[in-house]
Amino acid sequence: MKSLVKPRAVVIGGSLGGLLTANTLRAAGWEADVFETSSKQLESRGGGVVLQPDVLDALAYANVELPDPPGVMSGDRIYLDRDDRVVEQLYMPQMQTSWSLLYRAMKNALPASALHAGETFVDFQMDGEQIITQFESGRSERADLLIGADGIRSTLRQRLLPEVVPVYAGYVAWRGLVEESDLPRVAADVLRNRFAFQQGDGYSGLCYLIPGENDSTVFGERRWNWVWYRKYTAERLAELLVDRNGVKRAFSLPPGSTKRADIAHLREDAPKWLGPTFRALVDATDDPFMQPIVDLRSSKMVFGRAVLLGDAASVPRPHTAGSTAKAAANAHALALALSSTWQSDVTIDSALTRWENQQLQRGRLMTDMGISLGDRLMQIAR
Ligand SMILES: Cc1cc2nc3c(=O)[nH]c(=O)nc-3n(C[C@H](O)[C@H](O)[C@H](O)COP(=O)(O)OP(=O)(O)OC[C@H]3O[C@@H](n4cnc5c(N)ncnc54)[C@H](O)[C@@H]3O)c2cc1C
Repeated sequence: MKSLVKPRAVVIGGSLGGLLTANTLRAAGWEADVFETSSKQLESRGGGVVLQPDVLDALAYANVELPDPPGVMSGDRIYLDRDDRVVEQLYMPQMQTSWSLLYRAMKNALPASALHAGETFVDFQMDGEQIITQFESGRSERADLLIGADGIRSTLRQRLLPEVVPVYAGYVAWRGLVEESDLPRVAADVLRNRFAFQQGDGYSGLCYLIPGENDSTVFGERRWNWVWYRKYTAERLAELLVDRNGVKRAFSLPPGSTKRADIAHLREDAPKWLGPTFRALVDATDDPFMQPIVDLRSSKMVFGRAVLLGDAASVPRPHTAGSTAKAAANAHALALALSSTWQSDVTIDSALTRWENQQLQRGRLMTDMGISLGDRLMQIAR
């Protein structure tokens, strides 16, 4: 036995990547604390997450309990044309859940003393083999490892790899959530129990059911989660990113921030592109919101005792349904790699090197796949 003192990780970011990391590391015998810039409970931006095996594996390893069932099953994938005819149908069962269900389950699994809201990471410095993390509040924390799970605009990545920045892919995802009972019956009958798509020249839509706000999967209490990918020039995107209070948003428009005029335009445009079912979804949505699609890939994830993971390290396009799965795989593999370090001769540094090699490759595969799927779908030539 090498040590009786548990090693400690400071995790920056209290969204899915950070919570997955803290839960899996604690299951591996580490101390792990989460520091999140937002002082409030985070609110779901969009709802829908395809529940991939990587997420379930990581949560099982960390003994995080999920509601039963943890999501809504779909059986067939259907592809509709603009007249709502089913042009393709294939049996491809999968489960969809919500961002907030996963968030709550993971947050509840951590002791309150491990969660530090309202703490913004600003910098770090090394002190021998220890890393000292500094926060805007003046607080500093000493640990064996610093983990940046601080998302697409990661401060830690900006500090370590300032040249790596998100690049706009030329299109955005308009998204919306509709209470199950608020969608007209004729559209609901087309969509229920299915993962539905409508694809055309340079645009694409998809829809599936997710649990309700209270995690309910009972018929009538769930929500329709839809996405409409559309191309915009960088100039038009910049206009759309000005929110309804006139504030220029750097990255996305969360629910409740899209200008009324832009929502009206979206509704006006819907009949030019979408068939009756997808149109009904847009019409039934009070507050559509928007997320530009970007590409981002870091060439490294380990920098001595500082580590990047989840969206901070690389962002696969959403067609892969893989951002959360990648964050889960990063976190789970990190915990497995580090589990033996404090009671054996495996060093933290050698465990991190092996982990980085595997996870960089996974990130590359997923980002490549996302670019290829997205460009083909949106008919973008590069
Ligand atoms: C509020 C919120 C809601 C979301 N809702 C959905 C959804 O409904 N569907 C979906 O598919 N995806 C959603 N996502 C994105 C999804 O979580 C990620 O794409 C994926 O799960 C990888 O997560 P991540 O933790 O690596 O990055 P992110 O989810 O982007 O989380 C990064 C976290 O780091 C925090 N942070 C950033 N900078 C600092 C700093 N300097 N100091 C401390 N903390 C910092 C951010 O506030 C954020 O909570 C959401 C993300 C957020 C933040």
